[in-house]
Amino acid sequence: MQNQNNTIIQVKNVKKIYRMGSEKIYAVDDVSFDIQKGEFCCLLGTSGSGKSTLLNLMAGIEKLSGGQIIIKGQKIHKMSENSLARFRQRYLGFVFQSYNLMNSMTALENVEFPLVFKRVRTKKRRALSKDMLKQVGLENRMNHKPKEMSGGQQQRVGIARAFVAKPEIVFADEPTGNLDTKTAMEVLKLIRNIAKENNQTIVMVTHDKRVAQFADKVINILDGKIQSIEKIENVESIENKEKIETTESIEVLETKLS
Ligand code: ADP
Ligand code: MG
Repeated sequence: MQNQNNTIIQVKNVKKIYRMGSEKIYAVDDVSFDIQKGEFCCLLGTSGSGKSTLLNLMAGIEKLSGGQIIIKGQKIHKMSENSLARFRQRYLGFVFQSYNLMNSMTALENVEFPLVFKRVRTKKRRALSKDMLKQVGLENRMNHKPKEMSGGQQQRVGIARAFVAKPEIVFADEPTGNLDTKTAMEVLKLIRNIAKENNQTIVMVTHDKRVAQFADKVINILDGKIQSIEKIENVESIENKEKIETTESIEVLETKLS
């Protein structure tokens, strides 16, 4: 299984306190855990438990009130804005609940976007993006704009965009929150399979226990604190059991769309 020396993310005594007038909200309250390279980690908890805050702290989007976040040996809370931006570009990918696609752009252009920032040449950029869209099953939707696609398809574009630059870590905040159950399971399998193929690390926030079954590790959060950390050993067998169901749902989806 996982090599213990393969830690890619360390969260140490992390705190986030919001001040609302005279009131203090302990959104993340002294949280510590490690994530290993290649691990699919789920932050599971009810609404308001502090999951998104924790994810945003880990991604360097929000500033810590206390503690440390170390990614690939680097203290990200000590980085300047510029180094942090470069670090994110080089190592991190993001998937959002509301997809966050550019509405005026085609699927292909949306997927190309992170590569533009990385200054990848046009030809290579296009080839990589097309390949990624094929991987998520959207070879026939490359020139569609977000509004011309279903929610599931839009999220598959979102996944292609998150993974196209081969980031070592992908952060996802309720990526299946707007999808029906079948499509959600489909999207989760896609994320898991792509990540496993390339030994990429996933940190996913969810309130849904069914989502957590795709993870290798589930961190249960309540009121900003860790309740428990579970290692899931059985993911491969769950996947096999659901393989037939998955194939069916893709066919149903394709038929509906054609
Ligand atoms: P979750 O993602 O688990 O639903 P959040 O991380 O969004 O939870 O929020 C955790 C707690 O912090 C909630 O009580 C929320 O109201 C509060 N909170 C989140 N963001 C802010 C903010 N910008 N200002 C004040 N309070 C906030
Ligand atoms: Mg949230």
